[in-house]
Amino acid sequence: MDFTTLCVHGSDKKYDTTGAISIPIFQSATFAHPGVGQSTGFDYTRSQNPTREYLEQTIARLEGGLDAMAFSSGMAAVATMMELFSPGDHIIASDDLYGGTHRLFNHVSAKNGLKVSFTDTSDPDAVMQHIRPETKAVFVETPTNPMMHVTDIEAAAQVCRQHGLKLIVDNTFLTPYFQKPLLLGADIVLHSGTKYLGGHNDTLAGFLVVSDPELSERLRFLCKTIGACLSPFDSWLLIRGLKTLPVRLERQQETAIKISRWLLDQKQIKAVYYPGLPEHPGYEISLKQTTGFGAMLSFKTDCQETACRLLEQVSLIQYAESLGGTETLITYPMLQTHADIPEEERLAKGIDDSLLRLSIGLESTGDLIEDLSRALKG
Ligand SMILES: *Cc1c(COP(=O)(O)O)cnc(C)c1O
Repeated sequence: MDFTTLCVHGSDKKYDTTGAISIPIFQSATFAHPGVGQSTGFDYTRSQNPTREYLEQTIARLEGGLDAMAFSSGMAAVATMMELFSPGDHIIASDDLYGGTHRLFNHVSAKNGLKVSFTDTSDPDAVMQHIRPETKAVFVETPTNPMMHVTDIEAAAQVCRQHGLKLIVDNTFLTPYFQKPLLLGADIVLHSGTKYLGGHNDTLAGFLVVSDPELSERLRFLCKTIGACLSPFDSWLLIRGLKTLPVRLERQQETAIKISRWLLDQKQIKAVYYPGLPEHPGYEISLKQTTGFGAMLSFKTDCQETACRLLEQVSLIQYAESLGGTETLITYPMLQTHADIPEEERLAKGIDDSLLRLSIGLESTGDLIEDLSRALKG
């Protein structure tokens, strides 16, 4: 079945006999047993719930995986996944990670005795140099946030296979519509479903997706034991959001390409980071491993004053954290998503006072350009 049809029809498991077109929200914490030692397949919602199961099966199919687990946020998914590791284990991670993941690794995983090395995962040699006897996994975000570095997933998977490491890919920015890391050799795919999968800036959600039955079993155990699962109502909102994922992403990408080109022509804009621009260093790898470039882009203004003016003067575009929704959002990574990263480290990554990030929504391109143009003039 085509991806677009899967987004609309999801899992083929039926949970109700009324003919309801929209899957019911099974708002129940617990389920009665038909007899002693018997189960309807559902016992308690922390373990599983029909609405969440439908969503999970849909996400697993979209990613080309065997199993998916839905969490109450992207960070809940990352935190649960980190419980696969034990004190002393070492993990190699992209050096341009989502700020929350960076904070979790440095302040929670570190306290729990895990060691994390940050490196440019788009360079397989750099990854190789960090491998130690106690290394267990490589954690990659591609494209990265906010600098849009692209990692060759197949190359990373090869390094991981040679050294017996798990490859974890955060696929939030591209979604399975544009990129399917499991099919490129990743072991675990992670999502902040809050972003494109939900798609409407209204619900927090997270996912872990795997192909290996043993990994699925270990993660399911952690998932029900830790309990950060997605509620039935939020599961339903995600199911609803997924139905329009392909049409939203196509349109958002089309606008992102036009806006990145427009930004390049503005004299107050010094650089544009969008993997869909042929001059972007990750363009060729993107062509090879993805079917699209997404709708996230970052850019540098000529000075901090211009950056702040843009943030204050845009009116249609909202100055807010998050991404992937119907509304176009602008963020100031230095003060928002990356505020917790030490200044020296942040500047070394290029996240300075002139860097802004745009998440392109579904407004008309003309209206967005008019808003940016007016704000740039001040
Ligand atoms: C937002 C985000 C997360 C965290 O997800 P939440 O749903 O906000 O908890 C993780 N990774 C990436 C790339 C993100 O953008």
